[in-house]
Amino acid sequence: MTFEIRLQRARCIGSKCCTHAAPGVFALDDNLTVTIIDPAGGTLEEVQLAADECPTATISVVVEGSA
Ligand code: SF4
Repeated sequence: MTFEIRLQRARCIGSKCCTHAAPGVFALDDNLTVTIIDPAGGTLEEVQLAADECPTATISVVVEGSA
């Protein structure tokens, strides 16, 4: 299933929930702010879990055809 990941990086507090949920997709940069290392590096379920577990709603997932 095709999906798009959107980040509001200014919200990120570096809690690393996302990097645990989808380590192939998300990493933290030198400023401890989330970045996407590979948008295809994880499953939709992993990315959705990362979005759900993010305490600051930095990550949103748009599934193609659903929005
Ligand atoms: S879970 Fe949210 S706040 Fe934590 S590092 Fe990831 S994007 Fe940033």
